[in-house]
Amino acid sequence: MQSDSALRIVWIYPDLLSTYGDQGNVLILEQRAQRRGIPVETFHVRSADPVPEGGDIYLIGGGEDRPQILAAERLRRDGGLHRAIARGASLLAVCAGYQIMGTTFGGEEGQPVDGIGLIDIASGRGEGRAVGELAGETDSALGLPTLTGFENHMGVTRLGPGVRPLARTTIGTGNGDGTEGCYTGRIVGTYLHGPALARNPGLADLLLTWAVGAQLPPIDDSWFERLREERLTAVLPR
Ligand code: GLN
Repeated sequence: MQSDSALRIVWIYPDLLSTYGDQGNVLILEQRAQRRGIPVETFHVRSADPVPEGGDIYLIGGGEDRPQILAAERLRRDGGLHRAIARGASLLAVCAGYQIMGTTFGGEEGQPVDGIGLIDIASGRGEGRAVGELAGETDSALGLPTLTGFENHMGVTRLGPGVRPLARTTIGTGNGDGTEGCYTGRIVGTYLHGPALARNPGLADLLLTWAVGAQLPPIDDSWFERLREERLTAVLPR
């Protein structure tokens, strides 16, 4: 890690986990920080390399079962993400990346595989594959508008006490119990691709606010509003 003044964004294991535009989440954070005059340094950490501990926001994406298992093993052995979170860093974990953060998740045959135990969630195989658009009303404490995104997963996730659902689903499956994703401390987990932060810029700003420790000035969001309107109109009854 180089400079102390820049916001440090760490993109974990792009060689294993990055489906359905998940890398776009990194671009959105970079852009929304830079448009507010915040300098950014981004680190792409491949799975053979150690996860640096000095980042401000960490991101991890979704993927298939085998790379997911490999990523869980490497993250557990490495320990860098645990240390970064203990220091107060923020994290956005998507789909396979989200499941990995918990105590257990379902492998290729549905067998239980150990997660990295960063948050109190447990995942397993659901009845069938959840594929398509998801919409949901975000937890009122977050003050965010309707959640929108695309999901494609077999897993279902149970949240332990102290971990709150990110949203209540109106369309789609999410965690499989009428809720979608979770948040706890400065960690956000979600099943949403699409990429999630392009479709939910408010969530991007929440992560940035946690990282910089201050409210951010508003920016012109008309492009994002058009994208959200188009996606939500396609799925929600009006
Ligand atoms: N392999 C996991 C599942 O099917 C995650 C899939 C994904 O990341 N899109 O539940």
